[in-house]
Amino acid sequence: MSRAYLVTEKGAAAELVDRDLSEIFGDDESADTTGTVDLEVLATSVNYKDGMALTGRPGIVRRYPLVPGIDVVGRVTASRASAFSIGDVVLLNGDGLGETRHGGLAEHARVRADALLPLPEGLTPEQAAAIGTAGFTSMLAVLALADAGVEPDDGEVLVTGAAGGVGSIAIALLAGRGYSVVASSGRAEAEGDYLRRLGAARVIDRSVLADDEGGPLQKATWAGAVDSVGSRTLATVLAQTRYGGTVVACGLAQGSDLPTTVLPFILRSVTLTGANSVEAPRALRERAWAALAEELDLELLDSLTTTVGFEDVPAVAERILAGEVRGRTVVRVG
Ligand code: NDP
Repeated sequence: MSRAYLVTEKGAAAELVDRDLSEIFGDDESADTTGTVDLEVLATSVNYKDGMALTGRPGIVRRYPLVPGIDVVGRVTASRASAFSIGDVVLLNGDGLGETRHGGLAEHARVRADALLPLPEGLTPEQAAAIGTAGFTSMLAVLALADAGVEPDDGEVLVTGAAGGVGSIAIALLAGRGYSVVASSGRAEAEGDYLRRLGAARVIDRSVLADDEGGPLQKATWAGAVDSVGSRTLATVLAQTRYGGTVVACGLAQGSDLPTTVLPFILRSVTLTGANSVEAPRALRERAWAALAEELDLELLDSLTTTVGFEDVPAVAERILAGEVRGRTVVRVG
């Protein structure tokens, strides 16, 4: 038997069920198990996307029934892939987990081996889950900035959605690389100390980026930015980015629209690029996780992590959608 959260139909919130594994994954004759690995889940996490899936919001779950959870860290209990053996501790972020394939919010998981990575040395399963998709995406954004030539000496780098999962880890990573980080948050007052402890040199209130009167070209301020908010905020960030700067779009907490013009691009040579954790190819996954294991200050990671029990997941889902969750939430499984 396995306890699992299960979304059974469109629009429905996930239910906590306790079922035979064959009921969830299909019996071995009916299911195509080629290239898959079975896991005893050791730790998982709640991301914004999981909040949407767990509460029945549209856009994440694309088949029913489905176990949500876009992150998993687990121990291999059966392997149909030559690269993994029973007992290996592995992790997976994205790759359709919790969207088109059963995800990590369960005591057992069956995952594709293609994007599976061994747990990096030096990280516990809980720490790998704390990093999770959010931290992985933050590192993709940091690598994108560095690959675009944004250097610590170039000037201030902005992180929006700063107190959230992606934002918190992005601040720690960028500060660790020596960038001067400015954190934009709706909780600038309540969480200012937290954001500065992560490494922010200064904290601004997110309302200053939500003003739609500023126009498409404003005072050139940012050498680069990591944006997990989208919409009007991203438009303002682009309008304030300096000549030759790069902005990495990684989320849409405010909205998926982008009300801007071509002016930041044609008059300031601004680059807008993106980070996608779901489709990231294996080589990029390996590069990002190696960098995370090497660079992320584990004391800071622990300080931005809250651990909850398996039964607490629905409550966390509501809170993450309300923008009330700080940093990362790890789910203890078992
Ligand atoms: P969190 O909920 O942890 O963080 C989002 C933060 O955005 C909040 O904490 C809040 O920060 C800010 N925010 C929320 N609502 C608004 C709003 N209406 N206007 C402005 N700011 C707002 O989520 P995650 O960090 O897990 O994910 C952040 C975003 O990135 C999501 O949209 C998610 O879907 C996306 N994402 C994309 C990935 C990819 O592969 N590209 C992977 C992972 C996440 P504060 O209180 O500090 O203002």
